[in-house]
Amino acid sequence: MTKHIFVTGGVVSSLGKGITAASIAFLLKRRGYRVKMQKLDPYLNVDPGTMSPYQHGEVYVTDDGAETDLDLGHYERFAEITCSRDSNYTTGKIYSSVIQREREGGYLGKTVQVIPHISDEIKKAISQLDGKDVDIAITEIGGTVGDIESLPFLEAIRQYRHQIGRENGLFMHLTLVPYIRAAGEMKTKPSQQSVGILQEIGIVPDILVCRCERPLSDEHKEKLSLFCNVKRELVIEEQDVKNSIYEVPIELAKQDIDKYILELFHMHVKDLKIDDWIQMVNTVVSPKSGEIEIAVVGKYISLRDAYKSIYEALTHGGIANDVRVHIRMIESEDIEKDGAEKYLSGVNGILVPGGFGDRGIPGKIDAIRYARENKIPFLGICLGMQCAVIEFTRNVLGHATANSSEFDPNTSHPVIALMEDQKKITAKGGTMRLGQYPCVIKDKTKAALAYGSLKINERHRHRYEFNPLFKAECEKHGMIFSGTCPDNNLTEIIELSGDHPWFVACQFHPEFKSRPLSAHPLFRDFIKAAAKKQA
Ligand code: GLN
Repeated sequence: MTKHIFVTGGVVSSLGKGITAASIAFLLKRRGYRVKMQKLDPYLNVDPGTMSPYQHGEVYVTDDGAETDLDLGHYERFAEITCSRDSNYTTGKIYSSVIQREREGGYLGKTVQVIPHISDEIKKAISQLDGKDVDIAITEIGGTVGDIESLPFLEAIRQYRHQIGRENGLFMHLTLVPYIRAAGEMKTKPSQQSVGILQEIGIVPDILVCRCERPLSDEHKEKLSLFCNVKRELVIEEQDVKNSIYEVPIELAKQDIDKYILELFHMHVKDLKIDDWIQMVNTVVSPKSGEIEIAVVGKYISLRDAYKSIYEALTHGGIANDVRVHIRMIESEDIEKDGAEKYLSGVNGILVPGGFGDRGIPGKIDAIRYARENKIPFLGICLGMQCAVIEFTRNVLGHATANSSEFDPNTSHPVIALMEDQKKITAKGGTMRLGQYPCVIKDKTKAALAYGSLKINERHRHRYEFNPLFKAECEKHGMIFSGTCPDNNLTEIIELSGDHPWFVACQFHPEFKSRPLSAHPLFRDFIKAAAKKQA
């Protein structure tokens, strides 16, 4: 029988519940158990695919093409697991299936209600994680206890645990223990109140993870244990880490949280094997081959979460090359105003990430021109590849009005255009080219060198494509089409030949498949080229 851990959060949001849940999954995996993870989000959108990065940060895409919460990125990166559609449910998705069933007559004669129908549907979502191949399932509830929209989810996990029993289900609550500077003290009251809200709905946490800026004293731990009804050894301190989020599992392991979880589940406590992870964190903290700076030119630069996986993948590239990667975040509209030189001079590499809409496009194109002309290693991703094609056709082929039909539907040179099967689609949610598709790589290219294989699979999230009408002309002037989708001949990777050290751009999103212990090949080689530029 699959055991379940339910993770809730209290006091404030942004405590790093996803990273904590993922760290615990990692530790349990490294104790030899098979783990699956899931996030339940209380908002009404069916998925985050249509939300602005300002609302939601990055949209993380799974192999099977689900547009999901960015916490799933943490799950995949920390716990080395592969998520799917079943790994993210929202209130919108739950309600949609209940309402659809009601229309089909699935509840004939009954009044359809939040409890039991919505809560049953949530329990069904949780049980998707059950299986012979899963020892422990971790379900994270988004939001903060006390939010109106969280209630059906909390009721569902309360019932779930009641049904499977204490031995098979655990509640873990993540809370904040703030340090009040004026009083010079840490305060446990907000945590007591948050646990109080949980208890009102019948949930008593088994484990309390306390986020704090400073160490928790024994006295605080005693107090929290007593007032929150949690065993003393299960009051866990999670202090802010100094250098890298990848330190979190190491810090949690020092307090044996994984061991206690296994004991509560009456499971055998096998040895914990994390030497490779500790080694990796040491590389992040003190790399041996120096430091480099990579410019990321985007339009949500002030938002740390908007390019989460990109920033992580750059760090992984640094780990693989034993260098520290500093990221210079640049608003593409600033380049538009003041020119590329002012913002890009001195960088070792330039990355243009994905995006939608025409704001900031000219700045991205200028940044790419700067990378091409000054022979600075360049990695373009999705919109970044599309802008690289626009830049090349404008400035190398001389088609001054070349554009993507996303930005100018009447352009004389639609070098990036809508695919035939996208033309009839009007609905916005879940209708892009999404998820994993195969790609065949041309031998003896930079892509082939990076992957060390001529057949790969990568994750996608886009509507527009390179227009094959312009392929021959681009090739004649030195663009190499080094990756193609074998199903439909769509362009997946382009690169430049000649004397540019490393100029590669891809239509897919390699950042989603990069892991700290195995950097994505394109990020690894991009950072390698950037580190060489410094020498
Ligand atoms: N807006 C572009 C498209 O839809 C690129 C999308 C992206 O970068 N994810 O094709």
